[in-house]
Amino acid sequence: MIVTRFAPSPTGLLHLGSAHAALFAWRRARAAGGRFLLRIEDIDTQRCRPEYTTAILEDLAWLGLDWDGEVRVQSEHVAEYDAVIADLASRGLAYHCWCSRTDIEAHASAPHGPEGPVYPGTCRHLSHADQAAREGEKFAWRLDMRHALQQCGPLPRDPRPFGDVVIGRKHTPGSYHLCVTHDDAVQGVTLVTRALDLEPATAVHNLLQALMGWPVPDYAFHQLLTNADGTRLAKRDRAVGIRALREDGHSPAAVRAMAGFADPA
Ligand code: GLU
Repeated sequence: MIVTRFAPSPTGLLHLGSAHAALFAWRRARAAGGRFLLRIEDIDTQRCRPEYTTAILEDLAWLGLDWDGEVRVQSEHVAEYDAVIADLASRGLAYHCWCSRTDIEAHASAPHGPEGPVYPGTCRHLSHADQAAREGEKFAWRLDMRHALQQCGPLPRDPRPFGDVVIGRKHTPGSYHLCVTHDDAVQGVTLVTRALDLEPATAVHNLLQALMGWPVPDYAFHQLLTNADGTRLAKRDRAVGIRALREDGHSPAAVRAMAGFADPA
């Protein structure tokens, strides 16, 4: 059975772009008699707000979407992400990194990767004494990409351009890559749908699946809705917000059409 999901981060209200993503996943599930799940990706507690979660669920229901089972909320599953990081670390595949973004940018040989400068590996081989000296300071957990690749067979996509990606941080649970991949696996998602701009990141997810023995779902990538001038829709732009379109008297069907999913005639 096909299982899809919509996984918004509650950093703002639902807008036409996120409604497009939700409708894309919902239609794929419903057309095939499958399940459609909802997951709130709120691990970034600095930027996420519970009132946005409430508003997103309400706007989705107003748009006519229904979902199966309980909504999964990532901030309630921190121990699970910690356990994945501990597992990778115990196999020598993850290490502590104390470098700031500025440190990394200042490194002359850092090539540019899909997420900015590629980590030059400064902290990969720190001695125990050097590590002990940093005890108590903030750090990030990084995946040792080269070592990780030696532990798995051929992958559907090449994660090497990402270098040693961040998979977690002190005081915060896993990174986006780690949590999204873990949750798609535990929720039994068979078709991950996401915007085309996240296609490259999928290579990192495929690597984590191989390392952790998680199933590899199918993927479908959708367009990013843009403004008439081709610029990206912004969550703070009232004109494209579902809330505002509701208040302005548009019907759910009209808003679905604006989000690229007109009802069949
Ligand atoms: N939470 C992610 C976002 O809002 C999307 C999850 C995914 O499909 O990877 O962009």
